[in-house]
Amino acid sequence: MKISIEDFTGECSCGQTHELAVNDVILEEGALQKIPQILKQEPYDAYHHLAMVCDGHRYEAAASVDGYVSTVAAMSWYGFKRSMIAKSPILVIADSRVIAEAPMRLTASGVGDLLGKNTALADWKITHILNGEHICRRICDMEYEALNNLKKSLPGLVNGEIAAYEELMYGLLLSGLAMQMTGHSRPASGAEHHMAHFWEMAVINEETEAYHGEKVGVGLMLAASIYHAAAERMKTGNFHLKKSVPVETELIETTFRNPELCRRIKETNEPNLLDTISPDVLRKKNDEIIRLIEEIPTPEEIRSLLRTAGGVCTLEELGFPPEMKADTARTAPYIRDRITFLRILKYYDFYEDVIR
Ligand SMILES: [Zn+2]
Ligand SMILES: [Zn+2]
Repeated sequence: MKISIEDFTGECSCGQTHELAVNDVILEEGALQKIPQILKQEPYDAYHHLAMVCDGHRYEAAASVDGYVSTVAAMSWYGFKRSMIAKSPILVIADSRVIAEAPMRLTASGVGDLLGKNTALADWKITHILNGEHICRRICDMEYEALNNLKKSLPGLVNGEIAAYEELMYGLLLSGLAMQMTGHSRPASGAEHHMAHFWEMAVINEETEAYHGEKVGVGLMLAASIYHAAAERMKTGNFHLKKSVPVETELIETTFRNPELCRRIKETNEPNLLDTISPDVLRKKNDEIIRLIEEIPTPEEIRSLLRTAGGVCTLEELGFPPEMKADTARTAPYIRDRITFLRILKYYDFYEDVIR
């Protein structure tokens, strides 16, 4: 598959000039054989930069996660998954043949991570219309196209077709490129990722061996079900909005028992992000928000997509009790300083009904 870096860089209608840390992405069958030839060229002929090689000897040999060209790394810190500044490779060499031969569970995990962009993008767009947070349409369009192609490629993944694996891997790489373009993880992470990271912290659940993309897939299922249920209530127009939603300090203190972790979470929530959202604007933009939620596939559609790839979709399959849905929805929004609709929902009087 041809990937040219120029498609992601330069001046953009969003007002930014996008730049990438990565120079080259080679995603094709037999890419590994080209390595000696590639490494003879500048700047790859010197030991100055990182290169990512997806060969058959490592975890990265699968289309399992979107972190390949990320400029941040999810690290555990006091039991707290934090995004730490990391260095992106300047060269990625991914051999589609190797990726197509990876265990299906890893591939299904990649499908979950990529499908998660559905709620991540909706969270970005909803926040943009409510408080004017910067958004890039070009990035959104590229990601939706990748999601569309993924949908068409799912049967091909099951049949081991190289082209299908290239579409999935492209989508995952794109998500990392999008993070480089904006300089933050907004295009790749929303409520579904906050839930996945929350479970990774194991504060209300046992530690799990589940892969990142599996947790994101389940987070997506939960977030989509909550968002669609909320949209139904919003359509009636029959609801009340709180005037303001203070940070739930007591909830944070009873959930995050480790004092250092608790302090960090509180710090993450200063100032209170929801102060940038006005209930009057929520009321005024009601129809627009409903439309954006309706762009998210329904939980039934998501389940069918995840199942086609052999992925997991329920809390039970992660080894968690189903009652964890509400506690997760309530607390997960506090682990990052980023607004999601999951957090905005705290304004609505039907909040407790829809998170169950
Ligand atoms: Zn992810
Ligand atoms: Zn842009």
